[in-house]
Amino acid sequence: MRSFDATSFYFNRAADMMDLSDNIRRLLVTPKREVQVQVAVERDNGEIHTYLGYRVQHDDSRGPMKGGLRYHADVDLDEVRSLAALMTWKTAVVNLPYGGAKGGIAVNPALLSLRELEQITRKFVDGIHDLIGPDMDIPAPDMGTNGEVMAWFMNQYAKYHGFSPACVTGKPVELYGLPGREEATGRGVGIFTVKLLSRLGRKPAETRVALQGFGNVGSHAAKFLSEADMKVVAISDASGGYYRPGGLDVAGMLKHAREHRGSLAGYAEAEKVTNEELLRLDVELLIPAALGGVLTKNNAADIKAGVIVEAANSPTWPEADAIFDERGIVVLPDILANAGGVTASYFEWVQNKQHYSWGLNRVRQELDRALADSFEAVWELAVSRKVSLRTAAYILGIGRVGRATILGGIA
Ligand code: NAD
Repeated sequence: MRSFDATSFYFNRAADMMDLSDNIRRLLVTPKREVQVQVAVERDNGEIHTYLGYRVQHDDSRGPMKGGLRYHADVDLDEVRSLAALMTWKTAVVNLPYGGAKGGIAVNPALLSLRELEQITRKFVDGIHDLIGPDMDIPAPDMGTNGEVMAWFMNQYAKYHGFSPACVTGKPVELYGLPGREEATGRGVGIFTVKLLSRLGRKPAETRVALQGFGNVGSHAAKFLSEADMKVVAISDASGGYYRPGGLDVAGMLKHAREHRGSLAGYAEAEKVTNEELLRLDVELLIPAALGGVLTKNNAADIKAGVIVEAANSPTWPEADAIFDERGIVVLPDILANAGGVTASYFEWVQNKQHYSWGLNRVRQELDRALADSFEAVWELAVSRKVSLRTAAYILGIGRVGRATILGGIA
């Protein structure tokens, strides 16, 4: 199964429970536009390298399209298409006035110098600048990109269209960014986790956590969860997993990563495990916060956690999801669990448009309130329709997008 098939499977499962004709289903799953561009740059050694960049604009019936920009070796059109569709349902679940989009370049950023990374970013903007913009499609950081990349993005876009800080979000705070945007996805994961545990009658102090991924999302989630009294016993990144049954020193790991270009490689205060072993550890809560497709039919029966919070996009293949349902494992789906990031991006975009900025406390207050409302809406729907949280989130999202599509018309 490929990424877009998985997203479409979840869409169809929810659509089966709604009054949606085949024609409307086809309209809602079909991306509005897909673009592939050549990204040719001169490497530091003088060689010319040509990469492929993608932007998929899935749906704009509820507003300008919104979605991250991923730099990773495995990026391809199918993955970007799937992530773009997820953004359509996600922005609708948290009721932001946005549609969904996603972009990516098939490149491993860890193998590039900063100059090369900047060139790649600027070349990508050269290729797509006419198709994006503050009222059309607004990129943001995702795996392999960060505030610095967004700053280059904004600067290159301005060369064509003039000053437009709202053309991209997740910018550095010093350059029209939002205090609290960087932490927002991980913070949101933490807020949702606390709410979910409370609904399930589980105590944070009795919750051992295994977390895969220690980048933007994973590191902020780990910090929030450990401060919320949970025992984070395992954390991994691309260098492997680190396990301490008595609880990891999360602050120490954050410091180690800060001092080693974001990597945990060389961290010696824990037992080493593989990324695959981490998923199967004896814990109460599992949080995939790195790659997609890590929970499959091959490992689903061995997962010991009773609760899974999908901080990553698309970590669970449908076969694994079915096994989790059967086993009574509660899964908080990506289109809700990691929506803190796009919600804070929305605040950044609104402020850029108004040339007015909020402080961190206001951002956190607004974020926490917006996420709490979305969690309650999905939870209530799951209870009343007797469906999983994933199906409930899809029903909510598809319903909102479907109504906007019908109201707006397609003429
Ligand atoms: P990031 O680039 O900041 O960090 C990625 C992390 O994953 C790093 O710790 C890296 O070492 C680790 N990793 C890479 N390959 C791995 C592997 N094979 N096994 C285990 N770990 C591996 O990315 P991020 O922004 O934290 O994004 C992580 C996930 O969260 C992605 O699925 C992304 O789509 C999703 N997400 C991100 C945001 C955001 O605001 N950044 C918002 C919503 C969803």
